[in-house]
Amino acid sequence: MPGVKKLAITDYHIHLRGGMTVEKAIAREKATGIRSAVLENWGREWPLADDDSLAAFLDACDRACAGRRRIPVGIQVNDRDWFSRISPALRTRLDFVLADTMIMGTDTTGKPQRLWLPELVIDDPGSWMERYFSHTLQVLGEPIDILANPTYLPRCIEEHYDALWTEPRMRRVIAAAVAKGVALEIQAGSAFPRPAFLSLAKSMGATFSFGTNNFDDKPKDISRWREAIDALGLRQDDLWRHGIRLV
Ligand SMILES: [Zn+2]
Repeated sequence: MPGVKKLAITDYHIHLRGGMTVEKAIAREKATGIRSAVLENWGREWPLADDDSLAAFLDACDRACAGRRRIPVGIQVNDRDWFSRISPALRTRLDFVLADTMIMGTDTTGKPQRLWLPELVIDDPGSWMERYFSHTLQVLGEPIDILANPTYLPRCIEEHYDALWTEPRMRRVIAAAVAKGVALEIQAGSAFPRPAFLSLAKSMGATFSFGTNNFDDKPKDISRWREAIDALGLRQDDLWRHGIRLV
């Protein structure tokens, strides 16, 4: 995998679920040469929902790293008020905060709407996209480090990607990310973002991160990373690293 080997790459989207552990994430580094960073979901319907559970998670990661190379530890935030609900002291212990845009609004029962659920129906893609675009900018307005799965669209409207993700919209999203130093993720196994977005992002000076978004402890096919590295000609300076948050 020559395109990957040229760069020092970190997988910033390794969930501790489905059998994946900190110890396995560290062991994988030696096997693949790709650095590991682990995270857990934070939010009202997720494993970490308050300071106590977040502190316990961070303590457990610290213990698991003891005596080994310490790997970055972060959270994926799924509520839009997360930054007002985590104490500043715990925020400083996070190496990174990752967010996607795949939960928006509420469903008919009042629960947060998960956009990846197959039963989702969107009657008017144009007006839905207006809301989704605002939602994406709102997420980018939060103190996050990585925007995961950028320009994701639900299955029922993904065929309209080019019409919905117009160049002006793509430029607004990329400009917001660049202004804040937020990385745009290239996720293994995801069809998003499409090449046009990635090329535009590269031309506008964006930084990128790589993620697998695993559901178990098996290695995922990362050929999509390699394709992006080659297509965009990515160099080390194009890749986001934890510890260099701008705002
Ligand atoms: Zn995730």
